[in-house]
Amino acid sequence: MKTTCGNMATIDTARAIIQPLSQLSSGGATIDMLRLDLIHPLISGNKWFKLRLNLEHARKQGYRTILTFGGAHSNHLLATAAACAAYGMEAIGIVRGLHGAAKETATLERCRQLHMHLHFVSRGVYRQKDDPAWLHALSQQYPDAWFVPEGGANQQGRTGAEEIASLIPAHYTHICGAVGSGTTLIGLRNKLPVRQKLFGFVPMKGGRYLEPLIRAHLISEQDHHWQLYDTWHFGGFGKTNKELDVFMEIFLQQEYIRLDPVYTGKMMFGVRAMQQQKLWPREAKVICIHSGGLRE
Ligand SMILES: *Cc1c(COP(=O)(O)O)cnc(C)c1O
Repeated sequence: MKTTCGNMATIDTARAIIQPLSQLSSGGATIDMLRLDLIHPLISGNKWFKLRLNLEHARKQGYRTILTFGGAHSNHLLATAAACAAYGMEAIGIVRGLHGAAKETATLERCRQLHMHLHFVSRGVYRQKDDPAWLHALSQQYPDAWFVPEGGANQQGRTGAEEIASLIPAHYTHICGAVGSGTTLIGLRNKLPVRQKLFGFVPMKGGRYLEPLIRAHLISEQDHHWQLYDTWHFGGFGKTNKELDVFMEIFLQQEYIRLDPVYTGKMMFGVRAMQQQKLWPREAKVICIHSGGLRE
């Protein structure tokens, strides 16, 4: 589907080609990659799918503004800023960490350029991001705004993510995706045929705490054949090391695909480790979702 927007690049889900990973596949299971990173330079990857129905809902309900939440490096914040600019809507970002306390990041600078209004709050205050009383107070301050939770983790986000399943052909046996809030994984599991096994790679330490949170949103008939891996966290969310950097560099040289160090780099490191350990059945047809996270 093509979405033409004001003076920005078109968002086109038809650009999400499937690319074989020939080096990674040699001598083992067949592993391909779904290039959601190609649909738009900023509103890339899974973020667009989680935002689209939010934007449409907000517009239909007469909201002029989208308000959302994120850290100073948040891909979701940037995607929201860009999507709002594309849709001709105002954007407000509630940013974790007081202004001045943290260094102004490239992400925040880009959000500002896209005219997102940034509202900084302390980490303590930010922790109330799902607290009805605080949200109520914020909605008094921004009465024109449709509120989207951190990571796009609401009903519109989960339903929007289901559209990614329609880009995955039926012959794939194993689907791999990187997990943050779990919203994308929920959409996928609720929509993909149950026989297609779904593996979520969580880039934080102890990331399997997400299991019950994900399960709570699954249709019960679909609550099968999915699993989280939190082995390849490299010290925790946002942390990286030389080994991961080298892996991503080699991956770029061999497969001509750039990965991001926060999500897809760790996922592909795990997928390769499983290939090396012969954990993928030889006849498996694996597809890994490139969920974006790159900057031009
Ligand atoms: C945000 C993001 C994710 C996590 O998606 P969730 O729906 O929050 O689980 C995965 N990969 C990339 C590149 C992201 O930017």
